[in-house]
Amino acid sequence: MRVAIVGAGILGLATGWALVRAGHEPVLFDRGPIPNPLASSVDRHRAIRVTYGAEHGYAVMALEAFAAWERLWADLGARHLVETGQLVLGPPDEPWIEASLASLDRLGLAHEPLDRPTLARRFPHIRIPAEHAAWFVPKAGALLADRICADLARWLRARGVELHEQAPVVELPAERPAVRLADGRTVEADAVLLAGGAWTTRLVPALGLRLQPSRQTVVYVRPPPGLEAAWRDGPVLTHKDSRTGLLFYALPAVAGVAAKLGDHQFTLGGDPDAERTPRAAEVEAILGLARHTLAEADGYAVLEPRTCFYTVTEDERFLTERFGRALVVSACSGHGFKFGALLGERTAAVLTGGLAFEAYRSWLEGRAGA
Ligand SMILES: Cc1cc2nc3c(=O)[nH]c(=O)nc-3n(C[C@H](O)[C@H](O)[C@H](O)COP(=O)(O)OP(=O)(O)OC[C@H]3O[C@@H](n4cnc5c(N)ncnc54)[C@H](O)[C@@H]3O)c2cc1C
Repeated sequence: MRVAIVGAGILGLATGWALVRAGHEPVLFDRGPIPNPLASSVDRHRAIRVTYGAEHGYAVMALEAFAAWERLWADLGARHLVETGQLVLGPPDEPWIEASLASLDRLGLAHEPLDRPTLARRFPHIRIPAEHAAWFVPKAGALLADRICADLARWLRARGVELHEQAPVVELPAERPAVRLADGRTVEADAVLLAGGAWTTRLVPALGLRLQPSRQTVVYVRPPPGLEAAWRDGPVLTHKDSRTGLLFYALPAVAGVAAKLGDHQFTLGGDPDAERTPRAAEVEAILGLARHTLAEADGYAVLEPRTCFYTVTEDERFLTERFGRALVVSACSGHGFKFGALLGERTAAVLTGGLAFEAYRSWLEGRAGA
């Protein structure tokens, strides 16, 4: 089957990969270069973790995702995952943490509570409030996102797949599987996938009530002298306290990439095509959150702040709909990258008739394994 894919972020690229593996013929279109630095998928690293609070279905998916990435590494001939483990921090009765640990138990995955002396010895860059606690979860890591996207694009090109850059799709005809390009051409296919990230609602405005673009800030930092080693190959950090609304995360300085600080508090505003230079207040907000989590928090030097856009749904579940003859998929709310290779495989299956749409939707919404 010939499948037109609109959007060459991780979802579009990985679906292209899975289609080629299954003997199909994808053709990809992106409004920018491929990979596109403005896409959600193109940052240096993204966390993969199995801790999902009460959303056990997503925990099951995350575990399956690890196996799917291995299939991708075998094809790419490169392993873009650094297994670092995850340090989970927060009040001992934090519901998200309690549910996450229960979910890990159901999956037979290890987690280790750390007492204060152990936390200080193993992770000297961490300083949390006296009433908070810490757990180490070995099954987690950092996916080298921009390298994955670049290698996927290379892999597809090497197999003769057409990757159309600077090729915005302006319409998905309702009556037949095809895409209409800004230059007036219409490209026919047997199936169409819209994987447009934060721009999805431009082509399907009806989804505007359910998909909210959200401007987010991440900050690459240099740790204070003496804490570099703790960040180098350190764990992914998640610090959560639902009572205060704190959700701070950090990625370690692995594979030559600087440490990155961010939050999971949605701004629910902004335009992905507007000026992206991070504002001083946005950077200060992230550094302010870090003071709840990090030792010597004022000693971090900002190397590079970045603005990234994603779409958020009300319950943070992924969304899929049929729009005319196209399949629309939005796997984001700030947690979609970790599923990339697995999403590609399942999305290729539903596009080519190997998986029923309702089963796919239930899985994508994190309900199948729950
Ligand atoms: C700050 C931040 C931190 C995150 N952290 C994590 C994390 O730690 N772990 C995790 O798992 N996930 C994380 N995510 C989420 C993850 O990055 C996204 O879920 C994922 O990258 C979405 O991929 P996508 O392919 O759906 O969209 P995108 O990567 O945005 O790709 C969409 C592509 O579609 C193209 N496009 C759009 N419209 C058109 C059109 N009309 N014609 C042609 N091309 C079009 C765009 O140019 C773009 O290249 C984070 C996201 C952000 C922004």
